[in-house]
Amino acid sequence: MNKQGRPTRPEDVAAKARATFTGNRALDIEEALIFETGRFDATGVDLDDPAPFQSRLGPHAREGALNLPGLTEPEALRHYVRLSRDNYSIDAGIYPLGSCTMKHNPRLNERIARLPGFADVHPLQPVSTAQGALAVIDALAKALMTMTGMSAVAMPPKAGAHGELCGMMAIKAAIEARGERETRRVVLVPDSAHGTNPATAALIGFSVRPVPAGEDGNVSVEAVKSALAPDVAAIMLTNPNTCGLFERQIAGIAEALHGAGAYFYCDGANFNAIVGKTRPGDLGVDAMHINLHKTFSTPHGGGGPGAGPVALSSRLAPYAPVPFVAREGDELNLVEHAEGTASFGRMSAFHGQMGMFVRALSFILSHGADGLRQASEDAVLSANYVRACLNDVMSAPFGDRPCMHEALFDDRWLKDTGLTTLDFAKAMIDEGYHPMTVYFPLIVHGAMLIEPTESESKAGLDLFIMTLRYLAFAVKAGDRERLLSAPVFAPRRRLDETRAARQPVLRWTRPAPA
Ligand SMILES: *Cc1c(COP(=O)(O)O)cnc(C)c1O
Repeated sequence: MNKQGRPTRPEDVAAKARATFTGNRALDIEEALIFETGRFDATGVDLDDPAPFQSRLGPHAREGALNLPGLTEPEALRHYVRLSRDNYSIDAGIYPLGSCTMKHNPRLNERIARLPGFADVHPLQPVSTAQGALAVIDALAKALMTMTGMSAVAMPPKAGAHGELCGMMAIKAAIEARGERETRRVVLVPDSAHGTNPATAALIGFSVRPVPAGEDGNVSVEAVKSALAPDVAAIMLTNPNTCGLFERQIAGIAEALHGAGAYFYCDGANFNAIVGKTRPGDLGVDAMHINLHKTFSTPHGGGGPGAGPVALSSRLAPYAPVPFVAREGDELNLVEHAEGTASFGRMSAFHGQMGMFVRALSFILSHGADGLRQASEDAVLSANYVRACLNDVMSAPFGDRPCMHEALFDDRWLKDTGLTTLDFAKAMIDEGYHPMTVYFPLIVHGAMLIEPTESESKAGLDLFIMTLRYLAFAVKAGDRERLLSAPVFAPRRRLDETRAARQPVLRWTRPAPA
């Protein structure tokens, strides 16, 4: 070991992996379930016994003890702080999850979102008292319209997949208005698509017709034309696609669709690669969701609610959901009712995720047009840097072709080693990195999809690249054990993830007394 205790020789690594009595690894503390730690006689609060009262619960009154774990305040606090440390996050390090655009959430966004006027706004307060909030929604919608080159934006959807549903419902309404409800029942979905695309189409009653992607990872006009027929309502195409490539024939595809009376839904999850460079509206897109939690830096999933506004072309704008913000003279109003309009109706109780709108607008205004363009250029540059620096040790399905915002590798370089993409990903955990997206897109065998985003410094990227090269050299040197046994430093080793998802154990039962 060196003076800081970092291993310098293989024996040092073995010493570090040694088991400890507590199960802890240095500050990585083994944490039991709260039910196992708690005692029924302990509490973090000290309440007086209630004055005598008559229960009105009758037969519904609880008979036994509630059996909630009792903990003192420091015990409760430590439990949750330790659990939080078992979570990898973008605030802890690079999060190179391809297609997810896990970028830094600027603290400026958080500061603005916490201003009381934004943080305390209530969806049921009178519109006259929420003019500032409506102005934020309106300004964000205008910014998104400018960036997409499209006529309208529906703000309510709560996630990308919810946005897909919204866009496809607008397409369905447009088709019904044309009297083609019974005839146009098919949605084309390329086989390189995100799983949410066919799921969305199926959810609202369309059937899915796959379109094969070509050898070069792109969908061709020819492939779309041969799948097109009078029964086709729309295509759902991702651009840049999930191979990290710009769909080169996208304008021709749009033309072919429109010529056949079908609509063009674009999955815009990868918008971060093209903001300020290309406007989807100019490419013939009719509807596209924008993941504010990807491109516009609002927190993802567990870190906060998502938001997936949908940009609509002039052909679909009339079918947008309610409520939406409308300007009436100097006042902003929320149009709440669909009656008497072509709107397909309501998707959610209120107008959308206000806190996310504030953060996204803060990101947009603090970057400005030039800053947003630079962010997408830097994201693409970072991905190409990663691609170019790993190309000689790993295998890339599309060779030397430059990528957009994410670099895609396959598992040909692991052939005959008995090791898999999963083993490589697990070894990254021991090195302190969250793995990249693996086994997606499905059309590339053993896919590894790396999206560094614009957030990483060159030094950060270099360390990441050197670590992956180090692991790749370990594979080439025949050190299979390093990968097969990984992760050894994580709080848990390899879990049966499929079983955990299919048969989750969500209830703790008290073990029988010994
Ligand atoms: C993330 C993503 C989605 C879904 O977005 P959510 O906000 O997670 O629902 C859809 N398509 C692609 C290509 C994505 O990367």
